Amino acid sequence: MPIVERLLLGPGPSNPYPEATEGLARPLLGHLDPAFLRILDETCDRLRAVWRTDNPLTLPVSGTGSAGMEAAFVNLVGPGDVVVVGVNGLFGERMCDVAARCGAEVVRVDAPWGQPLDPSAVLGAHRSPSIIALVHAETSTGVRNDVHAVARGKGDALLLADCVTSLAGIPVDIDGWGVDVAYSGTQKCIGVAPGLAPFTMGRRAWERRRPKPQSWYLDLGMIGDYTASMASGQVARKYHHTAPVAMVASLHAALGAVLDEGLEAVWARHEANGRALQDGLEKMGLELWAPAGYRLPQLTTVKIPDGVDDASIRRVLLLEYGIEIGAGAGASAGKVWRIGCMGHNARPQTVSLLLAALAEVLGR
Ligand code: PLP
Repeated sequence: MPIVERLLLGPGPSNPYPEATEGLARPLLGHLDPAFLRILDETCDRLRAVWRTDNPLTLPVSGTGSAGMEAAFVNLVGPGDVVVVGVNGLFGERMCDVAARCGAEVVRVDAPWGQPLDPSAVLGAHRSPSIIALVHAETSTGVRNDVHAVARGKGDALLLADCVTSLAGIPVDIDGWGVDVAYSGTQKCIGVAPGLAPFTMGRRAWERRRPKPQSWYLDLGMIGDYTASMASGQVARKYHHTAPVAMVASLHAALGAVLDEGLEAVWARHEANGRALQDGLEKMGLELWAPAGYRLPQLTTVKIPDGVDDASIRRVLLLEYGIEIGAGAGASAGKVWRIGCMGHNARPQTVSLLLAALAEVLGR
């Protein structure tokens, strides 16, 4: 089966929106061509709408979601800075690693994998951290953490949020919640191929950035004169590196599709189809892993029934039905499946097909 016909329901790339695929296939423009710069400017405007922010420093960082994570930390964290990190999955662990490599004194606040973080434990972990960091949608467990509650109590600290799996899937409100810096990835609910990290940073964070981060490539001060932009709202761009023009065109097109549908309608579509998937799995007698109230509609974790061979079910779904579901990550490997219902795939026909195929394969 041609790979493009497969339904990718794992936490990897969701099937791109048709518009995103068309965007990738357009004739290439030079990275300094005024026509490309217009697309780039519009892409940043569209990102501001999807992030719900007026931050001038809002752009697609070249690189995957992890580049967004690195950009957030290297620009804000230096030796000895206290960084509180909420950890209840693989990506909270990764934040600790990245912060430690910047020389931070990392204060971890753990919750068991599969459970949400307790916002008061995160806020009470240190008297005066410079940064509090947490993952909004933990892709490794299917759990939503309450970024808004942590934002309300952050005090003088900067709040850093990983929104790789949440942006354009569930409500994210950078300015309304008071998030200082956030990043995402194109391959999740936005429905574009992997390769860019939508990024936004507000004025408080910009004013506290490190003067010379150890990464040249991710030094946001090199990308544009955002000090002037923070006052004027206009971005003064200068050459820094060659923009990945095809990826930007694809992101531009997919964000256009999201905004044409309406951000709230897109959230509602994820909610309705994710919940239908979860209800259907429970009706089949399967047990969901994440607790009710904290389940991500776009990423469902379900316990693998006793006696069922994890790999062979996933293999049959892929080879016979063209459906890919994700294996468990880290400690949950072999214990749960992670089923994406995100981006273009968050539709009733996808949910019905997966439920029917899984019931058939489990019943063999
Ligand atoms: N953060 C979260 C929550 C993720 O799900 C991922 C990837 O799945 C990342 C960070 C890292 O993103 P990438 O794999 O695109 O570098």
